[in-house]
Amino acid sequence: MNSSNLFSALRAAFPQDLDATAVFATAPDGAPLNYSWRDLDRASACIANLLASLDLPASSRIAVQVEKSVEAMLLYLAVLRAGHVFLPLNTAYQKAEIEYFIGNAEPAVVVCSPENFGWVSKIAFQAGTKSVFTLGTERDGSLLERAAHCSDVHAPVARGRDDMAAILYTSGTTGRSKGAMLTHGNLLSNALVLKDYWGWQADDVLIHALPIYHAHGLFVGVHGALINGSPMVWFNKFNPRAAIAAFPRATVFMGVPTLYVRMLAEPALTRQAAAHMRLFISGSAPLLVDTFAAWQERTGHTILERYGMSETVMLCSNPYRADARYQGQSERRGGTVGFPLPGTGLRVVDDAGAVLPAGEIGHIQVRGPSVFKGYWRMPEKTAQEFAEGGWFKTGDVGQQDARGYVTIVGRSKDLIISGGFNVYPAEIESFINELPGVAESAVVGVPHADFGEVGVAVVVPRAGARPDAAAIVARLRDTLAHFKVPRRCFVADALPRNTMGKVQKNLLREQYRDLFLKA
Ligand code: AMP
Repeated sequence: MNSSNLFSALRAAFPQDLDATAVFATAPDGAPLNYSWRDLDRASACIANLLASLDLPASSRIAVQVEKSVEAMLLYLAVLRAGHVFLPLNTAYQKAEIEYFIGNAEPAVVVCSPENFGWVSKIAFQAGTKSVFTLGTERDGSLLERAAHCSDVHAPVARGRDDMAAILYTSGTTGRSKGAMLTHGNLLSNALVLKDYWGWQADDVLIHALPIYHAHGLFVGVHGALINGSPMVWFNKFNPRAAIAAFPRATVFMGVPTLYVRMLAEPALTRQAAAHMRLFISGSAPLLVDTFAAWQERTGHTILERYGMSETVMLCSNPYRADARYQGQSERRGGTVGFPLPGTGLRVVDDAGAVLPAGEIGHIQVRGPSVFKGYWRMPEKTAQEFAEGGWFKTGDVGQQDARGYVTIVGRSKDLIISGGFNVYPAEIESFINELPGVAESAVVGVPHADFGEVGVAVVVPRAGARPDAAAIVARLRDTLAHFKVPRRCFVADALPRNTMGKVQKNLLREQYRDLFLKA
């Protein structure tokens, strides 16, 4: 029978009543637009049949750069169903980037927004793509027009655990972006572990407000709801007021830290507004301890922070309930990403690859069923990123304390080496964030003739506050070893962030690159 196709596992979890609502969405005019489980099944079957009619070789790449919509999710399900490989692309990508991705992945099919058809199809056809379809946010575009003529019955194509289901291009702030190959087995095993670890319940309803070109919204969000047969309240774009207004009819929310910050700015966020919710989950970027505490105070809920990456799906999570593997601890600790998930191995090693004892900071390596197959068409890069024994080098620096909690200190490429000493930006940032008038900060390393690198701090004030940059540096000098103290500090209105809420330290490094080089 048909084996390990992820779609079959998701389909098997649909509730018995296929006429029940699976997705509560909103039409462009603001009217409710609901999709039943039967709708998900039939519409994804139509699209899968359209793909089948193209007679593509198995595991063809289907590259998709469209605005978020329920139909875009249906396209994802259809690609799985048809046995092909889903390749989502951030909607922010421009021509040169799309050229690279299409040239590198050689997709058989490209689906783009109707307004981008002209330039995207040109790139695609030049690269040998067979078909280019369009998909808009109002159920418009050629994909659905063509799919409407196809049968709404489709048997999922047999796929093995090790067959590719998706390629996610890493955000790649240094060098070329790499395509992480994720298999049906990677994705299904992670979805099942999270279902159990986060205690998904029969009456759960997920608020889905994240983009679906990224692992967070696509795999953690969509799989999380579907594998539990739980409906989603669906937002194509995040709006803090609308999200809070949805709390009374939902139970689970997943967000990147900036979404929490934006909801905290809304007076409507109260204990009462959040009373029906069961679980708030955060990830993709570090959640400030301040945000964690403010959320607790305002709503009475303790955000559960977890950690993962495109190459591995989810790796660590704070506990939802007592974790027997870690002395029955159930505390969700702000500033940490909790414990390695069941089945995930995690170790912290030094520069030479030797395993470090608890509490020491080093490079985080992981292995387990959710760790990807490798980088698409980059066998050498793939080999470099795995240590002996199948340990994947995450590129994150952190520690695991004696109780088992893992803390991420930063990306190894963000590490500052000043005069031969390692400086971990997150440590300095956490000191700066405690200072009066500071909302948040970022510390980056910039070239320096004597020290190799020195730190530069960029500080964002709290509303109404005017922290003094020189005074911040002076305070740090009293608190920290001198090699750790940033040489300069700048006050800025905001930190540059990408759409997943990650601070773009590469942009800050670029901005301040010449600070100490020019006389
Ligand atoms: P991506 O592949 O875009 O999902 O980015 C993965 C990276 O995001 C990880 O390697 C971490 O550096 C970072 N990240 C994800 N979750 C967290 C978290 N909870 N705390 C700190 N960093 C995180």
